[in-house]
Amino acid sequence: MVKVDPEFKEELKKYGRSDFLSACFNCGVCTAVCPYAGESSNLPMKIIRYAQLGLKDKILQSTEPWLCYYCGECSASCPRGVEPGEVVMTIRRYLTSKYDWTGFSRRIYTSKIAEIISASLLAFVTAIVIWLLHGPIVTGRVQLETFAPAHIVDMGDMVIGIFLAVLLLSNLYRMYRFTVISRLGGKGIPLQRYIIELKHVIVQFLTQIRYSQCKIKRNWINHLVLMWGYTTVFILTVVFLRLYLTNEWYPITNPIRIAGYFSFIALAYGTVYAMIGRIKKDEPFRRYSHPTDWMFLWLLFLTAITGIMVHAFKYLNMPLATYVTFSIHLCIVVPLLALEVPFAKWAHLAYRPFAIYFDKLASSSI
Ligand code: SF4
Ligand code: SF4
Repeated sequence: MVKVDPEFKEELKKYGRSDFLSACFNCGVCTAVCPYAGESSNLPMKIIRYAQLGLKDKILQSTEPWLCYYCGECSASCPRGVEPGEVVMTIRRYLTSKYDWTGFSRRIYTSKIAEIISASLLAFVTAIVIWLLHGPIVTGRVQLETFAPAHIVDMGDMVIGIFLAVLLLSNLYRMYRFTVISRLGGKGIPLQRYIIELKHVIVQFLTQIRYSQCKIKRNWINHLVLMWGYTTVFILTVVFLRLYLTNEWYPITNPIRIAGYFSFIALAYGTVYAMIGRIKKDEPFRRYSHPTDWMFLWLLFLTAITGIMVHAFKYLNMPLATYVTFSIHLCIVVPLLALEVPFAKWAHLAYRPFAIYFDKLASSSI
């Protein structure tokens, strides 16, 4: 039975811009220009229609909002100023909060204050942990590995790794329930399908190749650079932080050092480019910025800046400046990982390729 929720439009407004939803008269222009609309998808009109009618369950079952890369073509063409691209973006925030069972995502998406307090609190707790657990402060020369002892770093990495894995995997499982199990209504999927279709997750995550179908190719390249930048930071912090903190200097050809330089360049370029675009509002997809968009960009930008400063101070052999900047760096990286990966903007990196995967699974059995 299809359930209609008359309050849905109001609820959606808490997640972004959907004020002009009622103005849509289903002309289909947005779908005609969308590079992802095709035989099996009426993106974005179908989703807009669901939202208009309050078909919340249909939206929950749908993977289509994740197939949109917010190129803005539909918003530029809509004769009624509905901003369909922004409505789909708003629905993605809503879905992120629905996949999250803790309710935390909903809080940070619907309250700017909750978001700022959460980030500040995480930074504060990180500072206290560093204060209590740091090793001896050697002032004769930079000894980062002594300041941040290996067993403490390993423990911190393990805690963050488990925290992120549990939340992200459980949220993905909820997404699977909404988009596959509820759509199939009890029909099974052969195990080999799960394995065969898994290639889509890997290819889409690494290349974001579907984004290249948008008219402006540089947006795909910029997104890819930024994505690789913060994925590198994620891997360096959660897996290789201990190697990064050595007292010695790696040669310039060392992979850890190259990864560090790469993440700095990618993040600095990607975030500054995105921030300038959002200030200038020069393209339809940058006309509206949710507070969480800004928080994500600032956390990434400050991660890049403090990361390279730690490196520079270490190179200049300035021990106290290195330890203080490294501590500030961690106070930024921890909120970035703990807030953005399971609850907010970063999560779309996982949800988008999995949406393609789940869609293939569901459609192969219908
Ligand atoms: S969102 Fe705009 S372009 Fe799309 S169907 Fe509605 S009125 Fe037409
Ligand atoms: S923003 Fe681009 S990809 Fe998304 S629905 Fe509109 S036209 Fe399609």
